[in-house]
Amino acid sequence: RMELLEDVSLKRMLYEKPDTLKPPRTDVLLVTPWLAPIVWDGSFNIDILNAQFHQRHVRIGLTVFAIKKYIVFMKPLLETAEKFFMVGHKVNYYVFTDRAKEMPNITLANGRQLEVLEVPSYKRWQDVSMRRMEMIRDYSQKKFINEVDYLVCVDADMKFMDEVGVEILSDVFGTLHRAFYGASRTQFPNERRKASAAYIPPDEGDFYYSGSIFGGTVEGVHKLTNFCHHEMLTDKENNIEAIWHDESYLNKYFLYHKPTKVLSAEYHWENYPGVGTIIKKKRFVLIRKNDTAIRNK
Ligand code: UDP
Ligand code: MN
Repeated sequence: RMELLEDVSLKRMLYEKPDTLKPPRTDVLLVTPWLAPIVWDGSFNIDILNAQFHQRHVRIGLTVFAIKKYIVFMKPLLETAEKFFMVGHKVNYYVFTDRAKEMPNITLANGRQLEVLEVPSYKRWQDVSMRRMEMIRDYSQKKFINEVDYLVCVDADMKFMDEVGVEILSDVFGTLHRAFYGASRTQFPNERRKASAAYIPPDEGDFYYSGSIFGGTVEGVHKLTNFCHHEMLTDKENNIEAIWHDESYLNKYFLYHKPTKVLSAEYHWENYPGVGTIIKKKRFVLIRKNDTAIRNK
């Protein structure tokens, strides 16, 4: 694990002393019971983190699927990523699509590359969504492992509105779903049918994680996606499909393979008007879409 092995030595830096008796936030949970950080605005110093990650010459891959009509989301997603995603670091964008010809031209800053990966599409949007796990798994093993250190895997119907940087990186991370970060276990929309491999009993579950953004080291993402794909196939053999598709299998994975970092809902928000008291930065937000007009097209 490079996080532990690599020797990072920092130069002199001036910043406010962390205060043991005065936590930066008292309105939100900053650490899980298994001691994984929960990343909220105000809880980290990006200058320290950037200095550490720059020394490691970290390479980050952003994977996104733009199958069928979802290709229209690539321009807003990638243009805003150029402004806000891992600025100053080495970034590879990996766009999985069946419509390579419709890929827009995006001007990229130095040290950033875009690669279009042609993949087959599936008829049902649920299958398009779920099969992402299989494809990320396969490409992790045959390609990403040779090209990047970390992967950030996101939905297409999203855009960046504020900084998303190396504070999110860890062995394996999940993100608090914007609609359920304050919810109780029984309110989590987990799969509740015992027949499904994604089943989570109502007295278990830590958080409800979004299927729209997760990641980790290539190895960490490989394990996660391999698990989710296998559980999906098991369900398929039994003629059952988890209620929220890949998101349900992801939640099952994180229940028994705890994430090493958890991103707050700042990283999976919606462009609601104004800034809340809890959500101080709308970093990564979903684009409202007309599902019937865009799905299965
Ligand atoms: N997707 C796609 N083409 C489709 C359906 C889905 O590329 O026809 C991909 C795309 O990356 C999308 C993700 O699968 O963001 C999940 O689907 P969607 O965003 O519609 O699910 P929601 O976030 O609305 O639950
Ligand atoms: Mn989406």
